[in-house]
Amino acid sequence: MSAVSTYNIRVFGDPVLRQRAREVDDVDGRLVRLAEDMIETMYAAPGVGLAATQVGVERRLFVYDVGEGAQTVVNPAISEARGEWDFEEGCLSVPGLHWNIVRPKEVHLTGFDLEGNEISIEADEYLSRVFQHEMDHLDGILLLERLQPEERKEAMKILRSRVLGEVGPVPEEAPADARRPSRRAGTATREPSL
Ligand code: ZN
Repeated sequence: MSAVSTYNIRVFGDPVLRQRAREVDDVDGRLVRLAEDMIETMYAAPGVGLAATQVGVERRLFVYDVGEGAQTVVNPAISEARGEWDFEEGCLSVPGLHWNIVRPKEVHLTGFDLEGNEISIEADEYLSRVFQHEMDHLDGILLLERLQPEERKEAMKILRSRVLGEVGPVPEEAPADARRPSRRAGTATREPSL
């Protein structure tokens, strides 16, 4: 019996995170195994959502668990979006940084499960946010692109310094305000990342 294994989660700077994932044609044993390993990777992180592109697989599926057990959605699509909701969002591929981001409050998600059954979910607030975040990953979009221009500038400065391998989270020449990427950075109450 083969043990479930975990992937390394790809982080900012990895070009795969910019790729639009391709549709899944067939749900076969390999895809089921991929989903199982993604779920294990998500729990180990820990996180509440994980898209295939985050583990370097350019296929349209994501996994999530908002407290009701792990679910997998294959070839997801958002067909409707309503309202606005401000929520502090973090990403496993942009570790350690969180921002308040406004997105639609409710979405209608469709797709397929691993048995090929159609999925149709009306999602509100937190679940809706998870779906929108994972859909973005499958389209090659990181949450950085959802930030206000000033926040994005600050974030890019921090992230570029990390990619260049500089020691510490912020380069020395950075202005003092770049040391706090979010007004709530450092709080212990934030939600797990996606
Ligand atoms: Zn993410």
